[in-house]
Amino acid sequence: MKKLRIGIDLDGVVFRTLDKVLERYNNDNGTDYVSEQIKDWNSHNWMGGDMSVYDYFYDPETFRDLPINDDAVEVLYRLDKKHDVYIVTDTHYCCLETRMKELYRIFPKEQYSFMADRKIFVGKFKEMLMLDVLLDDKPENVSRFNQKGYGKAIMYDWVLNRYVTDVDRVYNWLEFEKRIEEIEGSC
Ligand SMILES: [Mg+2]
Repeated sequence: MKKLRIGIDLDGVVFRTLDKVLERYNNDNGTDYVSEQIKDWNSHNWMGGDMSVYDYFYDPETFRDLPINDDAVEVLYRLDKKHDVYIVTDTHYCCLETRMKELYRIFPKEQYSFMADRKIFVGKFKEMLMLDVLLDDKPENVSRFNQKGYGKAIMYDWVLNRYVTDVDRVYNWLEFEKRIEEIEGSC
């Protein structure tokens, strides 16, 4: 079996960050937006044009206790035992401290080697990393990685990336784990 280098994006893949943003926005504004209504990356276009929604993306408080996608923690545990797992995130510098504390809380370094070894990369150009697989939810990251990157990108399904059709897509973490087994088998 080939040990794969797997890069994992955080927001929209491990964490349901948009759910938390909308929850906070709704609490402050008396609205009831849900993430299924937000159909592309420009959230304000689906929220009556209110640009103040972006303030929540740059507020460290948003990154505390984020909701986690089903099976993400368990699948990452198993993948980390068999493969070389990296965290690759474009987290804004203002939220990095909260984010790191949260990562160490959710993925204790005694159990997750990617935390023990600090296999964490922060930045936008993920195609610069020699990863065999990148799991990401952002169309431009996926397409840039597939065009210029070393390996193959897989899209983590979200309402706001469904307009992209010519891509390898998974709908949940168990499906991603299965896809990794298939890639493993074909190496
Ligand atoms: Mg993302």
